[in-house]
Amino acid sequence: MLRTLKNRFEQGYRTSAYPKTPIELPQRYRGLPKVHQKVSQEVADQCEAACPQKAIDGKNKRIDLGRCVFCGTCERISNGGFASFSRSFELGTAQRDHLFTNGTLPSLAENAKDHFKKLFGRSLQLRQVSAAGCNACEADLNVLATPFFDLARFGINFVASPRHADGIVVTGPISRNMKKALLETFDAVPSPKVVIAVGACSISGGPFHGSPEVSEGLGDLLPVDLFIPGCPPHPLTNLHALLTFFK
Ligand code: SF4
Ligand code: SF4
Repeated sequence: MLRTLKNRFEQGYRTSAYPKTPIELPQRYRGLPKVHQKVSQEVADQCEAACPQKAIDGKNKRIDLGRCVFCGTCERISNGGFASFSRSFELGTAQRDHLFTNGTLPSLAENAKDHFKKLFGRSLQLRQVSAAGCNACEADLNVLATPFFDLARFGINFVASPRHADGIVVTGPISRNMKKALLETFDAVPSPKVVIAVGACSISGGPFHGSPEVSEGLGDLLPVDLFIPGCPPHPLTNLHALLTFFK
């Protein structure tokens, strides 16, 4: 017991002061991309052709963050001429079409729903459904329960049973085999309920887009309230979106 207390004092207080204090992510982190509108059409077309995710609309010079896996190819081959990635991790949106961006995103706070804040602002219980995810999105959601992020201090928890949940958080490209389980889990959550799509896979099929084995995005199956892009989204991207949308 004494050893535990000693260890506790030695460790100090490890929980982040975010969101009261901003957090700076490392230089190598790729967040919201700025798409440079003055880039030549030729370079924009080259980037569109090189994008493994078909996330680039070269003609309108914009990127679909719902498909982008933040691989950095477009920035690298254009030497930053087409796009450069900022360290802004605030990427969540309330609508799928808000994820088409040239460097700005609509304010999530302004698109949040008041009745959700009233219902879930003090307590939000979520059931996570991994619908054939690679486990990276899932791992970066799990991280939110660690002492550094300490999600529970905001009244948000992940629960085991959908019957105890206020909504579902879906990761993965929703394979044919997982579709039934996902829909049954959604049905088991009592109304009113929320649906959150985390990661490129659940938003658009991600790297598996186009395969007959996966869906084209959660939005085709369920009414999605919150989209959190990334591959995987950084834990701070998830945390920012949850706090902004529900608090
Ligand atoms: S960073 Fe995104 S938009 Fe750019 S090439 Fe990779 S997937 Fe495509
Ligand atoms: S979005 Fe990326 S990290 Fe998340 S499940 Fe799909 S492949 Fe894995």
